[in-house]
Amino acid sequence: MSTPLPILSSKLAQACSLRRPVIRAGLTNTKRACSRRPFLTSLWATTSRARASPEPASSSSPAPPASSSRPPQTQSQTSRQTPPSPPPTSRSNENVVTPTPDHQHDSPAKHIAVSIDGDPRTFDTVFLRDSCSCTQCMDPHSKQKLFQTADIPEDIEAECKAVVHQGKHMVEIQWKNDVKGYASDHRTRHSIDWLRRASNTELLLRGGVRHDERVLWNRDIITRNNKWIDYADWMGQDQVLFDALSHLNKYGILFLKNVPDSEESVVDIAGRIGILEETFYGRTWDVRSKKKAENIAYTPQFLGLHMDLLYTSNPPHLQLLHSLRARTSGGESFFSDSFHAARLLQQKSAFHFRTLCTFPVTYHYHHPTHHYHYTRPTIELYPYPKYSEPTNLAIHHVNWSPPFQGPFEARIGGEHQTTLRNYLSAAHAFEKLISAEENLFEYRLNEGECVIFDNRRVLHARKAFDATQGERWLKGTYVADDVFYSKLRVLEERYTGQWLADGVVRPATE
Ligand SMILES: [Zn+2]
Repeated sequence: MSTPLPILSSKLAQACSLRRPVIRAGLTNTKRACSRRPFLTSLWATTSRARASPEPASSSSPAPPASSSRPPQTQSQTSRQTPPSPPPTSRSNENVVTPTPDHQHDSPAKHIAVSIDGDPRTFDTVFLRDSCSCTQCMDPHSKQKLFQTADIPEDIEAECKAVVHQGKHMVEIQWKNDVKGYASDHRTRHSIDWLRRASNTELLLRGGVRHDERVLWNRDIITRNNKWIDYADWMGQDQVLFDALSHLNKYGILFLKNVPDSEESVVDIAGRIGILEETFYGRTWDVRSKKKAENIAYTPQFLGLHMDLLYTSNPPHLQLLHSLRARTSGGESFFSDSFHAARLLQQKSAFHFRTLCTFPVTYHYHHPTHHYHYTRPTIELYPYPKYSEPTNLAIHHVNWSPPFQGPFEARIGGEHQTTLRNYLSAAHAFEKLISAEENLFEYRLNEGECVIFDNRRVLHARKAFDATQGERWLKGTYVADDVFYSKLRVLEERYTGQWLADGVVRPATE
């Protein structure tokens, strides 16, 4: 029994012959070649007899996944049928497989190959079915999924053709054995653009290059690259906001100027990103020292390099500090890129680096009315295999907040005495790097200026100041990581057509 052929419109064929990417959509179990074969009917197939798509080997430059998921091409397959016209590259040529009729019942198609920008990209039918966004599969208003991944038959099979819909090149998939309850007229359409992005995202995640956009800095680098944004532009122009947030994501620090002298200004600034993160310090909080300061928490003393709220399970991502009064001498702020220090440490001593990745440090805020407590290693890497290869893990977070450290809870003695000593030695080395003069960026915020920094990356500190001379008053607030990345993805998608999601996210506009 043969299945229908992928039919490709001549209009599309013409379009494809004129421009890259050439779209080739095909699937297995087709018995005869398509009459329009010269253009678009190359059939790439992976049958169930082929091994499951393996993860490609670790590589610094990601290769298209298709190269590692090619089905074995047997002599019988090639001799019994004329292979369809080859894709444009010789490499793609290897991918052409046409299953014989004998294989049709016991070798259902589980992959569909689509040529994107001249490269064959292989997609699992489960992925293609699972990501169907038709109105039967996804509520058009809430965007919520209307079936479960677990509803998809394990032996789901499909046939596929290329179509053009509203000027967009797409593949249209007809399911042979669809999810239970779906009528036979159910079709899944995926645009080539979306498939390209889905495929590229996987390559990025697998290659671990996603995080390489970050620029690690020392004093000279950040001095040359600091970005100042005018408050009015931040508030009024989305393109400026996008540039600013991209910069913030890259360097972990950003400055605003001409901020109105109001306690609400920091709320307005953060509000452009999204909702503020309220903590037990309040929705906003004051770092203030006046004459006869009533709150001992806000002393004029030196405050060493640290991060805020590491005693919570998900510390705030962004910290905003707006200077309302700067009428004392001293009180300069210091910033240091902990990711840069971590990389330097890794180069100097893999052993110290590894110690900081593993040794558990406890942070706490232990008071009569609040008792927060969390234990984490100093350096956290993205977990394998979601984001990168194990030999090239990206730094996810650094945790360093000496003032809020509690007693160590594990590996504190006995047979672990060496471990604690190793930690001390690594902590010495790390502290030396973060506080080295050439790595410290010093700046004294003037009134009407606001600094925004990544609290999971950039350490902050403050020099002592003379509280008897005048007023020093900063108004601060936090923004959570999800809120920041949400805004960045929205803007990035609008201005560049890409997004930074940690995973394959269908654009809201498709
Ligand atoms: Zn659907």
